[in-house]
Amino acid sequence: MLIETRLLKKHFKISRDEILHAVDGVSIAISEKEVLGLVGESGSGKSTFGKTLIGLHNRTSGEAFYRGEALPAKFSAKDHLNYSKKMQMIFQDPYSSLNPRMTVLDIVGEGLRIRGTPREEIKERVAHWLKRVGMNSDHMSRYPHEFSGGQRQRIGIARAMIIEPKFVVCDEPISALDVSIQAQVINLLDELKQSLGLTLLFIAHDLSMVRYVSDRMAVIYLGSLVEIGPTNKVFFEP
Ligand code: ADP
Ligand code: MG
Repeated sequence: MLIETRLLKKHFKISRDEILHAVDGVSIAISEKEVLGLVGESGSGKSTFGKTLIGLHNRTSGEAFYRGEALPAKFSAKDHLNYSKKMQMIFQDPYSSLNPRMTVLDIVGEGLRIRGTPREEIKERVAHWLKRVGMNSDHMSRYPHEFSGGQRQRIGIARAMIIEPKFVVCDEPISALDVSIQAQVINLLDELKQSLGLTLLFIAHDLSMVRYVSDRMAVIYLGSLVEIGPTNKVFFEP
């Protein structure tokens, strides 16, 4: 198994005496090079699960593992640096997830910069990854607002991929995009997955989108898994 969670919980304290059980004991395992689709209605805990799994939220309880290695419940700065090399996330909204004051070079190259990569090498690798996601190196000096939603999502994909992670949480990567370009972005992710041997947790609110890319599918409802199995089984006999 590349990724495993056991009874993972993330509760939010939302007022003095109210606790929201956003993720309430989710156990899953994802094998190397597998795509697990995670489906559920809005507010069911999909994003919170993905973020807690890769350490963007401190978990409330339960366990998480990367290649059998226990992940800390609370990531230190060093843990973030270490694990962000292995696990990355592509966010739902390409409008809010890219810093409007940073150039594309700085956005895509950020993960290399914090690791001390020399500027010239960052430029070369950013140029390479922009091409790889269907953009071009002239886009480096521009700002996010100069691009369409689909292009911004490609920039977000390049930012995640430049680190060469093994595991990527794709959090509804196409739901904010025009229907006409959704398939292009799905195809890009599928092609990257095939050629780089990635393992994906592919989050969607709609079964039909993930069924083409997922080997297995899990359904989450109110923070709990209600079903998990091979894609065709979950899709045709839910
Ligand atoms: P989904 O991605 O399935 O739409 P989320 O994981 O975003 O669902 O949210 C699950 C629940 O947790 C929702 O009720 C949401 O309002 C709540 N939630 C998410 N993030 C936070 C947070 N940082 N603080 C408090 N509540 C949150
Ligand atoms: Mg979400």
